[in-house]
Amino acid sequence: MSEIHETTDELLDLYSHDLMNVFGTPLRVLDHGQGSYVWDSDGNKYLDFLAGIAVNSVGYAHPDWVAAVAYQAGKIAHTSNYFATEPQIELAEKLIERSGAPQGSRVYFGNSGTEGNEAALKLLKLHGNTMETTQTPRILALTHSFHGRTLGALSVTWKPNIREPYNPLLPAVEFIEAGDVHALESAFNDGPVAGIIMELIQGEAGVLPVGAEFVQAARRLCDEHNSLLIIDEVQTGMGRTGHWFAFQDENLSGGVVPDAITFAKGVAGGFPMGGLVTFGGEVSSLFTPGSHGSTFAGNPLATAAGLATISIIEKENLIVNAQRRGEQLRSELSACDNPLFVSVRGAGLLNAVELEHPCAHAAANWALDHGLIVNAVAPHALRMAPPLTISEEEISRGVAILRQMPTDLENN
Ligand SMILES: *Cc1c(COP(=O)(O)O)cnc(C)c1O
Repeated sequence: MSEIHETTDELLDLYSHDLMNVFGTPLRVLDHGQGSYVWDSDGNKYLDFLAGIAVNSVGYAHPDWVAAVAYQAGKIAHTSNYFATEPQIELAEKLIERSGAPQGSRVYFGNSGTEGNEAALKLLKLHGNTMETTQTPRILALTHSFHGRTLGALSVTWKPNIREPYNPLLPAVEFIEAGDVHALESAFNDGPVAGIIMELIQGEAGVLPVGAEFVQAARRLCDEHNSLLIIDEVQTGMGRTGHWFAFQDENLSGGVVPDAITFAKGVAGGFPMGGLVTFGGEVSSLFTPGSHGSTFAGNPLATAAGLATISIIEKENLIVNAQRRGEQLRSELSACDNPLFVSVRGAGLLNAVELEHPCAHAAANWALDHGLIVNAVAPHALRMAPPLTISEEEISRGVAILRQMPTDLENN
């Protein structure tokens, strides 16, 4: 480095000059992390109830994860897809196993959630091409959905203010009111549907479950109309909701098995990675050599990070920890006598607390100033998605901070 020991103000000043202005002003400059804690560039310590948006599933600087990534970096970090590597093959096998996908299932690796969803949308296009119709088979998505920011994924992302500046996007996308079975039925009756993409808990919308009955209806309609059901498990997957994947939780899915899932966020414990698992031989054979790809896809460094993450989750029983710590978080927050907190919702360690008035930004900032990272996911809601490694004592410590939050915070 040519310049050393910049002050925080100098760093933020440089940030505001040099970085594309798409994320707004950073809350802090972070320097390092350990377990469930991070430290900023001024040496302040924070308990992290956000974990890089549900990404740092095994906490910061887990020694096994660090060792696995360092080992793979020293061995071979990247190869291109003209070549295969062992970590990539092993991780694909583990993801198929953990998702309970049937014989013939396959994995496509990308580098982010949005890329997993791009692959899923291409899958829907390829499936649509096989349908005997003169109309363009439509792709259904739900209101309040979030599937990513690239043009394809954005086409099925609900929020008008982030989507509409990029119109025209993918044609033949139709948004259905989340939870409205009648609207879904009439959409299927309106003409051919290639498939539907949905989250089981809409994370970016404020941790809102779409409801098992709706998911069951989607499965039934897809079966009746030869359409594919894709579940976006980018935020809910890899143990986050107390199961490997949210669709394995009867309460969220009603026992529905999808035709494909997409994954990312927590999959590699902080290393950028995402992808798609197609369920069964028929869907898995839609992609053929040349029909999709990416230079970095399934890179050995990323997949070694994924393998380390799965191995830590299993060794430390983190799926059960996600269930227990989630129950603890919800019950301690419900019991806490702060009138600002109206209700708590979520599954496992993906939760949100509903606020009495729309002051989520002020609330998150207050928490940050008091040593706790939570996320203003919606005007009325704070999201909490701590590392799956979080301890009982750390959950209580976070709730103790939240309990003291003043009730007269300013609206957003
Ligand atoms: C975060 C998220 C995405 C986008 O993932 P990126 O890695 O940011 O591209 C897609 N779907 C869901 C449900 C998400 O939560």
